[in-house]
Amino acid sequence: MAEGEKLEKTGRCLCGAVTVTATAVDPHVHACHCAMCRRWNGGPAMASNCGTTVEIAGAENVTAYRSSAWAERAFCKTCGTNLFYRVVESDELIVNVGIFDDQSGLELAGEIFVDEQPGWYGFAGERNRMTGAEVFAMFAPKEDEA
Ligand SMILES: [Zn+2]
Ligand SMILES: [Zn+2]
Repeated sequence: MAEGEKLEKTGRCLCGAVTVTATAVDPHVHACHCAMCRRWNGGPAMASNCGTTVEIAGAENVTAYRSSAWAERAFCKTCGTNLFYRVVESDELIVNVGIFDDQSGLELAGEIFVDEQPGWYGFAGERNRMTGAEVFAMFAPKEDEA
């Protein structure tokens, strides 16, 4: 796949009250093992940066929880499906790829917060793995929480 190539995906929550159309899906999925993502999802987050152009139908059914100074986590208020992580300053949506109807073209490209990963599970294969400190150094956020 060419560098910088984006995918188009549609997706929805379990009950269908919320549907999304994303035209700039980064095919490089990242898994986040941090304690907040694990608590949020019941396991690591598997998400992709979809930029600022995601169209959301049924947005009145979306509840957003402000989980840190710089981000909120959104879910369907009816069925509880976790939808996306929104970076407040940039308005970028990091969408949980599990909600996409078509899973083709995606690739698990990296794992982050590997220092918070419990020892009882792991993904097979080799890829870029970063600790929380390495992630923060890359994005230089204001605080030390994910
Ligand atoms: Zn729903
Ligand atoms: Zn996380």
